[in-house]
Amino acid sequence: MMEQIKYLLDLQKAMSEEKRLCDEKFRIPHEAADLKKLLEEKNAVFLAADKEFQTLKALRLEKEREIEEERDKAEKAKAKLMSIKTNKEYYAMLNEIDGTRRINIAREDELLSLMSKYEEAEKILAERKAELDAVTSEHKERMTGIEARMSAFDGDIEKINERKREISAKLEKGLVSRFVTIFERREGLAITAAIHSSCSGCNMNISPQILNLLQRDERIQYCPNCNRVLYFEEQADEAAC
Ligand SMILES: [Zn+2]
Repeated sequence: MMEQIKYLLDLQKAMSEEKRLCDEKFRIPHEAADLKKLLEEKNAVFLAADKEFQTLKALRLEKEREIEEERDKAEKAKAKLMSIKTNKEYYAMLNEIDGTRRINIAREDELLSLMSKYEEAEKILAERKAELDAVTSEHKERMTGIEARMSAFDGDIEKINERKREISAKLEKGLVSRFVTIFERREGLAITAAIHSSCSGCNMNISPQILNLLQRDERIQYCPNCNRVLYFEEQADEAAC
């Protein structure tokens, strides 16, 4: 095979690798941003659940304090009963104790309903916390990988560029720039084999004259349809004939 063809194949390999690295380098920060957005969303959901839980906790404590206060009042009133002299005062005091007791029954009902909401909020909060923790650790782990990858990119791309310069130095400048243009316009495939009398890049048939020239291996030939550089690849069955 013509030496130039071997260089062009090497050049295409280096260019494909460079393209892959550049695409990845471009894509990775977007992945990191998506992950960060998810983390922020989970955090917001967790904070909302925490706020709900803290509100119910405060209401519960307040209700418990009110009940305790009323119980204290009732205890004090009961103690006072002993020292009361008149019946009128006695019944008035009994009424007050009864009123307090009834208020507390209503408060205890409210407390019970608060408690079930509180427990539900506590359960939801634990679930949100677990989700947040999972995303946080996934984010941390991924970011460590991403940072390592990002810092390696520039070095890797520089190595590939060095390789491209080495190969290009062995080829004609005009050929290299034409090759680069084809690579960019033809989805990263600038040189391709002619197999079974057709271009493996675009599948169009190749005329016998061009095939003949390819087999002579003297000058670079281009596919008349897709303009890719062609090289002749003898197939096992053809070789057997
Ligand atoms: Zn073609």
